[in-house]
Amino acid sequence: MEDKRLLFHVCCGPCSIALFEELKTAYTEVVAYFYNPNIHPEAEYIKRRDVVKQLCEKAGVPFIEGPYNKEHWFALTDAYKANNEGGARCKICFDMRLEEAMRYADEQKFDIVATSITSGRNKRADVINPLGNVWAETYGLTFLEADWKKGGRQEKGIQLAKEEDIYRQEYCGCIYSKLVREKKIKEKQ
Ligand code: SF4
Repeated sequence: MEDKRLLFHVCCGPCSIALFEELKTAYTEVVAYFYNPNIHPEAEYIKRRDVVKQLCEKAGVPFIEGPYNKEHWFALTDAYKANNEGGARCKICFDMRLEEAMRYADEQKFDIVATSITSGRNKRADVINPLGNVWAETYGLTFLEADWKKGGRQEKGIQLAKEEDIYRQEYCGCIYSKLVREKKIKEKQ
């Protein structure tokens, strides 16, 4: 076990459920940081936040909630609202959350920062990890590079989420991804 304090940026329950134990056995201190102003509407944000809170309680991991500054998120992504998932809007969205996680980790004297975002099926580690590394360098911290989809973790996460019967969202998070999802459902009807 490494004698280090790790701040774990958590995006949602399904993406993190398989990772708490693994991180807890690797680092002396693990704290979850829920900073996701990309989740809309607010009722959905609260739902996802509360799932993560429950998982943290169960895993014995302290839970911290960051600001829900969605106005800032909308301002940063406004020019890219028509983008498909995986485009420039998503890169900005990852970058914003990683920057804040790194800022908080620096303020609270953590050593390492990780994010659960790369657990997501459509979330590319080769896009997310370099952003984490840039912010880590800026703040003089270490970013735990990972592709959490790999090593059987994705399958484990799906299985645990079913066993625990946690809420599994149907769209990535932002209002734009929600509208796309709703359109697809309508087209199928
Ligand atoms: S689709 Fe997901 S990753 Fe992309 S901008 Fe929306 S919330 Fe962020």
